Amino acid sequence: MKASPVVALFLSITASSLVGCGSKKPAAQSTAGSGTGATAGAGTATGSKAAMPPRNYNAISRSDFNRFAVRANLPIYWTADVDNDKNLDANEVASLLFYPSQTAWTKGNAFTPAFDQAYDTIVKLAAAPDAGIAEADLARAKLVGADLDGGRATLVHNDFSKAPADDKAFVAHMLKVAALIDDLYALQNGTATLAPQVKDTLSQSLFRRNRGPKCAAPGTDSNPACTAIAGLNKVAFDVYPADIQKADDFCAVLEKRKDAEALLTPFTVVRADGKGFKAVPYTEAYQAPMAAIAAELRAAADAVKSPNEAPLITYLRAAAQSFTDNNWQPADEAWSKMSVDNSKWYVRVGPDEVYWEPCAHKAGFHLTFALINQGSIAWQKKLVPVQQDMENSIAARAGKPYTARKVTFHLPDFIDIIVNAGDDRDALGATIGQSLPNWGPVANEGRGRTVAMSNLYQDPDSQAARKAQAESLLDATSAANYFVSPEPGLLSTILHEATHNLGPAHEYKAYGKTDDAAFGGPLASVYEELKAQTGGLYLVEFLRGKGLLTDLQAKQTYTDCIVWAFGHISQGMYVGTGKAKTRKAYSNLAAIQIGFLLDKGALTFDANIMAANGTDKGAFVIHHDKLIAAINDMMTTVAGIKARGDGKAANALASKYVDGAVVPHKLITERYLRFPKSSFVFAVTQ
Ligand SMILES: [Zn+2]
Repeated sequence: MKASPVVALFLSITASSLVGCGSKKPAAQSTAGSGTGATAGAGTATGSKAAMPPRNYNAISRSDFNRFAVRANLPIYWTADVDNDKNLDANEVASLLFYPSQTAWTKGNAFTPAFDQAYDTIVKLAAAPDAGIAEADLARAKLVGADLDGGRATLVHNDFSKAPADDKAFVAHMLKVAALIDDLYALQNGTATLAPQVKDTLSQSLFRRNRGPKCAAPGTDSNPACTAIAGLNKVAFDVYPADIQKADDFCAVLEKRKDAEALLTPFTVVRADGKGFKAVPYTEAYQAPMAAIAAELRAAADAVKSPNEAPLITYLRAAAQSFTDNNWQPADEAWSKMSVDNSKWYVRVGPDEVYWEPCAHKAGFHLTFALINQGSIAWQKKLVPVQQDMENSIAARAGKPYTARKVTFHLPDFIDIIVNAGDDRDALGATIGQSLPNWGPVANEGRGRTVAMSNLYQDPDSQAARKAQAESLLDATSAANYFVSPEPGLLSTILHEATHNLGPAHEYKAYGKTDDAAFGGPLASVYEELKAQTGGLYLVEFLRGKGLLTDLQAKQTYTDCIVWAFGHISQGMYVGTGKAKTRKAYSNLAAIQIGFLLDKGALTFDANIMAANGTDKGAFVIHHDKLIAAINDMMTTVAGIKARGDGKAANALASKYVDGAVVPHKLITERYLRFPKSSFVFAVTQ
């Protein structure tokens, strides 16, 4: 099952390594610099300098360039203004995947004529966004534009230009698999046949990004007039007969049938058979596209030459077979044998999650293609020798009746996404944690894999947004320790995950009671996550004491954790209303931590000072001299509540900080939510 695409469970984790392994840089930084944008445009190559001065590309800002490139449905992205000259240079442009066309924007260090055309189109569109739109269509077009603007294009870039030849060949095959998976998913979700009905470029871009005609951004998503195809805001999913989907309760109707169990299996589509319905295997319903994917997966397997990648090759061949016979168990078995230790790649391809379709029964096809994050492996290796010390330290804080146990780490696989295809790629936000498979022996016997996507939200724009968010809430001195780098976030995520293995966990019984029995399910989840995240703070001083972290790294990690907590507070404490209202574990724990630090004086709020951004009045101040003692108290309190199964104390702490007035929820939310959501776009340099 996947973590919510939008709730940034791992908001602050990372692409690159903390310990100096080769981190991926944007293409911009690995290509030769082109000076100050004096790159010849089309047609100037033969002209003399005097006749044709080098063209500048500084007509619009980078953020507007990327925003209007989306509106123009052009697969182009200004990665970063590396030299800060506000001019788009040839080493600052990426060519995006998953667009209807693929274009080379540069050749060597120069722009191509296609780039000049695209640049002019974008600048023209930015100057007059509504030009050429018929009056009758203007209202719809404005909504479509607003929906597109609701996401900030956010680049996931990987550079394989210097990779070994067989890696390059493997990547090329996997990108073909990605495109085929996209096509198959479009068949499944019923949008493949609609594409010809999408008339204008703006709507085509929405249709591409949102994987169909419907709007997806907060505010526009609920407006039936917001659609890429005028008059159409309901799509019939291909996995069920179209005519039954006209009824709003069609899922319930199917679920009540005597043959529901047979009809609603995850790897089949439901088809009318004259008398009633029948389940048709995916490999029958989608025979040709699935055969094409199987062939491409076999070609990918053939491309891998390294003897170290035998488990990957075995998985690719098993997955190819599953795309042929619809039996996904052998692929799951092969997949479960892959690990961070036996492959540098992470591949998961097949039908997995069910959230994409309204009845949540049919598995959507996806490809997750990623690299194992080497930085997290390095940290894991440093932590394993001290894991028992960590357990002993947390057990001492937890107190009776908990006693230290023998522990071994089980950390998720940290992966750096190369591409998300099919059901994996959302219009806005992204899946940042996932446990698979959902069915079969591998799932039932707990032999699946859990991954954390560590490079998402680590691009310069997302980092800048987080910095701006931090600077809207912290005073200048505190914000100075907010380090714009993936490092502190990666460390705290690893320590968070490590602490899930330490102290009283879900299976621990306090006086014969599990945490579910002692606290109730949702609060039990809050406290397990609170323990983990408090461990993330607590173990920083433990590591600093062992010389594994510098004083500055420790300060930066604390600051990062506090900003992380503000972010989760801004997402609200509950989902649903009335009886269906439940606690959001991360938001709750964030409020408890911030409240605790405020009460201990390690964090204060001063209504009269300016935030670091110089515009917001009232700011938080971090007092590092009081922080370690406060965090130690927090660890004692939280682990102690879990150790004793103290439901009363658990509730009291939650009421005080989650529902009470200690934490200024409204102010944090208002300052945080000024920023648009990420809409991930992908580029691979081959
Ligand atoms: Zn957790």
